[in-house]
Amino acid sequence: MNISNKNSYKIAVIPGDGIGVEVMEATIKVLDGLDIDFEYEYGLAGDKCKEKKGIALPKETLDLIKNSDACLFGAAGETASDVIVRIRQEMKMFANLRPVKSYPNTNALFDNVDFMIVRENTEGLYIANQEELIDDGAIAKRIITKEAEERIIRYAFDYAMQNNKNKVTAVHKANVLKKTDGLFKEIFYEIAEEYPDIDAEDFYVDATAMYLITNPENFEVIVTTNLFGDILSDEGAGIVGGLGLIPSANIGEDAALFEPVHGSAPDIAGEKKANPIAMLLSAEMMLRYLGENKEADRLDNAILKVLEEGVELTGDLGGSANTFEMARAIKNNL
Ligand code: ATP
Repeated sequence: MNISNKNSYKIAVIPGDGIGVEVMEATIKVLDGLDIDFEYEYGLAGDKCKEKKGIALPKETLDLIKNSDACLFGAAGETASDVIVRIRQEMKMFANLRPVKSYPNTNALFDNVDFMIVRENTEGLYIANQEELIDDGAIAKRIITKEAEERIIRYAFDYAMQNNKNKVTAVHKANVLKKTDGLFKEIFYEIAEEYPDIDAEDFYVDATAMYLITNPENFEVIVTTNLFGDILSDEGAGIVGGLGLIPSANIGEDAALFEPVHGSAPDIAGEKKANPIAMLLSAEMMLRYLGENKEADRLDNAILKVLEEGVELTGDLGGSANTFEMARAIKNNL
């Protein structure tokens, strides 16, 4: 019998390799301070898993993700693409969300940036086995389907509606890629008509790369295809101060995985030097996905407070706290 009034969720936890293990442990400790019952089930994936089991992503780990409400993922080392790309494909996680937000006491270039990049995750230039060698070179195909682009564009507008954003910007190169990005742009404005309360605009990807540096505060939600989204989101990470702070989400129809953008960082692994905030902000995205906005706000405010105080900071932010000291300070501020 569940005698608790708290909401409860089953979460697949995959710490993976390197600093993934430390930032995950720290994050779970912080989540324990929230008013939610999480039932955690741990799964293996990544380099260590491959050493132990001969495979980087065992079927039982995939099944675990399938049978959970959401998945928290730490990092995978050399096997990252075997693990994460395969999970995205198997679970049809079509939307990759990368928030770009500046926090105080970080290396952010601006203090007023807050936008979301919604990247199509299943097609474009990044489709496995779509490259081929020819006699005097190589060819890659770029695939844009109505179904996948409608789905991601609608996702971006719905995201804007649900998160009090006023504008969605489509990013493309339709002046050169007339058929593929021409179609993307056409679909974008068709769908925009269904959302009269949200402004719709579009920019070329090269211009966007410049505007992200000159006027990042003008963006609210960016929707774009796979390759452009990949590049612009790393530019976004640079604008707001580096890898230790950047979370991400991979969302499908019935599965979702939340992971920091950083990898396993073997140079600092096992030394408790890793900044846990990217993993904590990924957990915050999970809370919002689960509809737990109040608890997500609590977590966000606690992170903000610790950054504003500027005392319990990890080395990447110029402090001397270790991973767990910083996480404890965040938990104490919940
Ligand atoms: P992988 O091969 O797993 O991608 P990597 O070292 O090539 O690992 P990242 O893990 O993304 O790539 O890290 C790049 C650098 O950024 C690391 O060398 C590390 O010093 C720094 N870094 C990454 N994440 C963090 C973090 N959470 N806290 C502090 N520094 C970090």
